[in-house]
Amino acid sequence: MEKVKCLIIGSGPAGYTAAIYAARAGLNPVLYTGPQPGGQLMITNEVENYPGYPEGRNGPEMMDDFRKQAERFETVIRNEMIVKVDFSGPIHKAWSESGTEIHASTVIISTGASAKWLGIPGEHEYENKGVSACAVCDGFFFRKQKVAIVGGGDTAAEESTYLAKICSEVHLLVRRDEMRASKIMQERVLNTPNLIVHWNTSPEVVLGTEEGVTGVRIHNNKTGETSHLDISGFFVAIGHKPNTDIFKGWLDMDDSGYLITKPGRSLTNIPGVFASGDAQDKIYRQAITAAGTGCMAALDAERYLVETGL
Ligand code: NDP
Repeated sequence: MEKVKCLIIGSGPAGYTAAIYAARAGLNPVLYTGPQPGGQLMITNEVENYPGYPEGRNGPEMMDDFRKQAERFETVIRNEMIVKVDFSGPIHKAWSESGTEIHASTVIISTGASAKWLGIPGEHEYENKGVSACAVCDGFFFRKQKVAIVGGGDTAAEESTYLAKICSEVHLLVRRDEMRASKIMQERVLNTPNLIVHWNTSPEVVLGTEEGVTGVRIHNNKTGETSHLDISGFFVAIGHKPNTDIFKGWLDMDDSGYLITKPGRSLTNIPGVFASGDAQDKIYRQAITAAGTGCMAALDAERYLVETGL
């Protein structure tokens, strides 16, 4: 058994930022990276919208910078997963996959979310070569080009209108004859001239060459007809899944599994347990907002330790 003042679960921008703040405040944080150290940015080519990197930065390199900064202040980083927690007492228990039992005075959750994928041929093959699950991150690389985007929720509505400002033509593929998105978002979609909605339509296969995506074969779910769209970017916006399964039964979450925090704070329903990053944010989901909430969680943890004397 190991006693720690601050356990951080997850290693994206939220987790590393929490580590930097917690370490500098003398909380001696121990950070478990999870299965994909660095989080979603590890599958992003170029990050151009993170302030402080005027030339942009490759996603994995940027996460390496974050990690080094956390290590500089002596964060203990373990490339392992936390597989179980017990938040029943004032001291929070967690178990790593290798069986270490940790007793933590504070826990910062930054386990992130994972984009849902379609699972169609070509999707995985052309990831980072034209296939993306983040229009705000990657839309700029397709400026003045034709792209397609899949989904019918608020994310697809928001991202398709965002892409329409940058790209020459945007094809939104909606699998039913209606969208799930809010009315106002749908109106925006329908009033955008270079945004073409294909109702009852699903993509079948993403096509490309070594250079990247060149097109997509689509299928009309009502008529059974197939056709082809020439595109160079293929965006998937069918939702995300927060990585919060191990906290079920302990922490309040919404129907989709996003952790619920006190408005404007990182506090969960359990004192001493704080949530940051995409595990609690289904709206913004940016590296910079995740980092901001990681900072909030560390400051809240520090304050909690002072107040409780733990
Ligand atoms: P949602 O779960 O709301 O929507 C997912 C969409 O993807 C649905 O239209 C669904 O179709 C479609 N879909 C799912 N699987 C497939 C598939 N295999 N093939 C084709 N289409 C598929 O996810 P969102 O990410 O859009 O939104 C998540 C939450 O975040 C929502 O509560 C939303 O309101 C909120 N949000 C709010 C924003 C805002 O207020 N500005 C911005 C972004 C998100 P179907 O409808 O047929 O099931």
